[in-house]
Amino acid sequence: MLVLVINSGSSSLKYQLIDMDTEKVLAKGNCERIGLDKPFIKHTKNDSPQVIIETDLSDHTKAMGAVISILTGKEHGVITDMNQISVVGHRVVHGGERFTRSVIIDEEVIKQIEACYDIAPLHNPPGIAGIKACKTIMPNTPMVAVFDTAFHQTVPKHAYLYALPYEIYETYRIRKYGFHGTSHRYVAERAAQLMGRNIEELNIVTCHLGNGSSICAVKGGKSIDTTMGFTPLAGLVMGTRCGDIDPAIVTFIMKKMNMTADEADDYMNKHSGMLGITGISSDFRDILKAEEEGNDRARIALDMFCYRVQNYIAQYAGVMGGLDAVVFTAGVGENNPFIRTRSTANLKFLGIDIDEAKNNTKAAEIDISTETAKVRTFVIATNEELAIARECKSLLS
Ligand code: ADP
Repeated sequence: MLVLVINSGSSSLKYQLIDMDTEKVLAKGNCERIGLDKPFIKHTKNDSPQVIIETDLSDHTKAMGAVISILTGKEHGVITDMNQISVVGHRVVHGGERFTRSVIIDEEVIKQIEACYDIAPLHNPPGIAGIKACKTIMPNTPMVAVFDTAFHQTVPKHAYLYALPYEIYETYRIRKYGFHGTSHRYVAERAAQLMGRNIEELNIVTCHLGNGSSICAVKGGKSIDTTMGFTPLAGLVMGTRCGDIDPAIVTFIMKKMNMTADEADDYMNKHSGMLGITGISSDFRDILKAEEEGNDRARIALDMFCYRVQNYIAQYAGVMGGLDAVVFTAGVGENNPFIRTRSTANLKFLGIDIDEAKNNTKAAEIDISTETAKVRTFVIATNEELAIARECKSLLS
């Protein structure tokens, strides 16, 4: 069974064609600069080197058409006919309260995703653009929507409500939704498999630390709390996002700095976080280098980042009433031993104990705890595309 996984952004469209009999990626790529000048596709076939293909990507439908011609083409293709693709899996950021799991896409589902535009103005419109493009180019192929928010729909009401007047929840559905659900679920399930245990009896904290970061409390295989909120701005300190702040700061700076609501939104989403504190970069590699060179603001930004990771791990151990495993994943979580040690050094009392030799060993999946640690700490490379493809396979069969 061949599954085409699509992750559609406002000016990009990432794709992976996965053979689900072997779970091998046959080809993958990214259409970049859709709707802009000088668009191109970065395409990789099997284990061949990446090629850059310049072609018309004036909108998502053109991009989807280009992807299909590349995949079926003589030069860079891996199939002969698009009908060999059994299903297309779409990553959709926001499923609101309507979607608690992945679904097969029909007209009603499209309408419901569009109904979430109000609460996901940046993310859902490009998702729908990808779905509609696919529908035009491959009208006979079934499509599945996999939502970033769906995994967190098991968070209980006392954890997802904000202490604002209740009407605001009833009227606007303002509540915690949480994001990165596909990743949290994937790595939690992998951790349970690596432990040889049934996930239903485990308390796991998953730390997805990338440019955008979130932590999730996974109890018995279900998300019961997570750090992102109504939007992906809440929780941890991120590359350019501020994470949790005193809400009064927003109105204070709007008044002081004469900002509109959109400007304040931009300030907190794009100019804050690690970039805002360091004034150097949002990229952890640059910040770690600056710290090594003695930059004080780089040091404090990293301290702030790790402090908040530590706090949420401890908090979620409390929320779950125990802790069996901690998982680090995504760009920073997978690649940076130093951040892992620094975030957990104070948590030995919970049973977390990292073996530095293992922590410094690079592997896609590794248990980095000492032999005697009561809590297993893992580094597990996330694979959202494979998780989406598995959802497609299970929904279709
Ligand atoms: P997103 O998907 O949210 O855009 P990623 O999960 O790709 O982000 O993570 C990007 C972050 O990972 C960047 O800040 C980058 O600096 C960091 N990163 C990647 N490799 C390393 C590394 N070897 N050491 C530290 N940070 C790294």
